[in-house]
Amino acid sequence: MGRCYKWQPHEGARHAIPRELAVNDVGQTLCDIEVTARSDEWPDEARCWPTCPECDLAWREHEQILPWPRRAKAPRTNQQADPPAPAVDTGMAQLA
Ligand SMILES: [Zn+2]
Repeated sequence: MGRCYKWQPHEGARHAIPRELAVNDVGQTLCDIEVTARSDEWPDEARCWPTCPECDLAWREHEQILPWPRRAKAPRTNQQADPPAPAVDTGMAQLA
């Protein structure tokens, strides 16, 4: 399943808008703001804008990504057992 939304900077935050919007199409963000779609080339100052939390939450629900904070993964089990220690005949070693 492809993603249905893309991110677009708008008034100081990144919002998610429907992917099918072409440049200059008007559509709704996931947080219900009406926006005009822009080029995928973002202005430099928009690159550090925060993600809109409402869009982020709605997008995660849509994409079935768990919201943050994500549960930690189960710790890796150490499947590789230590090799058995060689049987050492200490008595013989001391005699040698
Ligand atoms: Zn938003």
